[in-house]
Amino acid sequence: MISKIISEELVVKAQCTIESVERIIIVSHVGPDGDSMGSSLAMWHYLMAKGKSPVVIMPSPYPDFYAWMPGAENVLIYTEDIESATQQLQDADLIIALDFNTPKRLGKMKEAVLNSPAKKMNIDHHLLPGSFADIIISHPEIASTSELVFRLICRMGDFAVINLAGAECIYAGMMSDTGGFTYNSNNQEIYIIISELLKLGVDKDAIYRKVYNTYSENRLRLMGYCLYQKMKLYPEHQAALITLTADEMQQFDFKIGDDEGFVNVPLSIGQVVFSVLMREEPDKIKVSLRSEGTFPANKFAADVFDGGGHLNASGGEFYGSLEDAVKLFEERLPIYKDFLEKEG
Ligand code: 5GP
Ligand code: MN
Repeated sequence: MISKIISEELVVKAQCTIESVERIIIVSHVGPDGDSMGSSLAMWHYLMAKGKSPVVIMPSPYPDFYAWMPGAENVLIYTEDIESATQQLQDADLIIALDFNTPKRLGKMKEAVLNSPAKKMNIDHHLLPGSFADIIISHPEIASTSELVFRLICRMGDFAVINLAGAECIYAGMMSDTGGFTYNSNNQEIYIIISELLKLGVDKDAIYRKVYNTYSENRLRLMGYCLYQKMKLYPEHQAALITLTADEMQQFDFKIGDDEGFVNVPLSIGQVVFSVLMREEPDKIKVSLRSEGTFPANKFAADVFDGGGHLNASGGEFYGSLEDAVKLFEERLPIYKDFLEKEG
């Protein structure tokens, strides 16, 4: 038995709402990752099996290595057909928002979601739940939104409705937000859930290969370049920084997701507990932050780069040049020395 972490009141509310509506749209955050794809598609499979006709709309394209996920071919990308996506959001009875806590994470799709008269349900595991939804199922102590979706479906009495396709999506999301169960993954119930997913026929080894071993040659060469030429270490701060310019990305024929995981690599250096990657985008610098132990990547993201996230995995953005973003990072880094000393 897994513990009942979602309150009975919220389970009943979610169930009654889903039963009473026709048109359901599932949305997640910009730059879809394994958990946003996994939780959205798991919810999609569940609702399909319940006889609904849900639609998943992502604010921006997902990386190729998630294209294998069952149902991914049906995902609509907001930026590829803004008019139709906006209309569908406007006509929806219910919008289920997964894996984010603030509408800002919807990127350019934010207004279309917020302006829709649809009822909104937010299922998420980030700190500081937002208030944009009517029903908020927020559990920051849970490692992935995909796990929360599994728990919610079970609590609604529908474990039997989860099919293999849905189970694969749930597993992929759980795997992805824990780095293949290497961080944030000490809750023993994770493994009870995995055991249930395996019983449904999930091939966890195949899913690992599909997500982590299907990259392009360019990605690997770009990674080599970043580590050899672009990684700067700050030994006195136990930190590392990698920057990627638009020119460099073009040189390696950069595709969405090609830099996924790069930011984690410097953490494998013994002394490094804080790693940051900055990537030049057309209108801003995207900043990814990762840490080990108690060093608060989310505090740094919020204080310095108008972002947030989890203690050990956060993101933010900077409006200005890459040089200025680096300057700001280097200026602020010393302020966080106290967090290192506490770490011992
Ligand atoms: P990534 O570095 O993979 O883009 O993001 C890691 C985590 O940081 C995400 O799961 C999300 O929680 C958070 N995150 C990423 N970008 C942003 C951002 O711009 N704003 C906020 N508030 N959180 C972000
Ligand atoms: Mn997540």
